[in-house]
Amino acid sequence: MALSLKDIKILWASCAGRCSYPDCGFDCIVHLEEGNTVTLGEMAHMIAASPKGPRADGKCRGPDSYENAVLLCPTHHTLVDKAPSTHPVELMQAWKRAVEEYVKVRLDPHHVDNLEDFRLHINKLLTQNISIHRSFGPESEEASRNPLSPASKIWVLRKLAFIVPNNRHIVNCLNNHEKLFSVSDWEVVVEFIEHAETFELNCFERMDGSAVPRFPKRFAILMGQT
Ligand SMILES: [Zn+2]
Repeated sequence: MALSLKDIKILWASCAGRCSYPDCGFDCIVHLEEGNTVTLGEMAHMIAASPKGPRADGKCRGPDSYENAVLLCPTHHTLVDKAPSTHPVELMQAWKRAVEEYVKVRLDPHHVDNLEDFRLHINKLLTQNISIHRSFGPESEEASRNPLSPASKIWVLRKLAFIVPNNRHIVNCLNNHEKLFSVSDWEVVVEFIEHAETFELNCFERMDGSAVPRFPKRFAILMGQT
């Protein structure tokens, strides 16, 4: 395959040099001995380079591009091309996406494998947000005593410096750890994400305050806060 150097880099890096066939995981970079490393990965066309090749329509050839390529071990490259009807383009694209997503998520420095560790990580940020809101938010003792108190200024600054970035980080982590949540718990997560995104929007573009869904207490409980 005559992929550009850029597309080759993207293809190999995105799947960490592993075969994208489901449950294969073959490491396509083989270190034999010092100074002797071979690459066994094959950059397979999903739609063949020849119009009459696998998955092509008989008229047009598939492009030499990252989008049309998938990294496979030699065995699986042979298999998908010998049986193209059982390995359609959409299926191969789905494998490729799954492997790339797997690599991306696993290399996230904040990746954890269980809900307990996830809660530990998130709770530090959540606690900071809740504490800032309690001390300086519009419903804080200070603000309700005197709406023009310095608390309201501090609230504006703290929102931008801590709450918005913390929320962004939490939302990002939630999206990268969707598998840790049951369907019913995910509904609570979605409520939090909706709150966080509208809250941020409201920080930059004043909206009718009632348009921002309140922080869902159910989310704090789900994260193990009492
Ligand atoms: Zn393979």
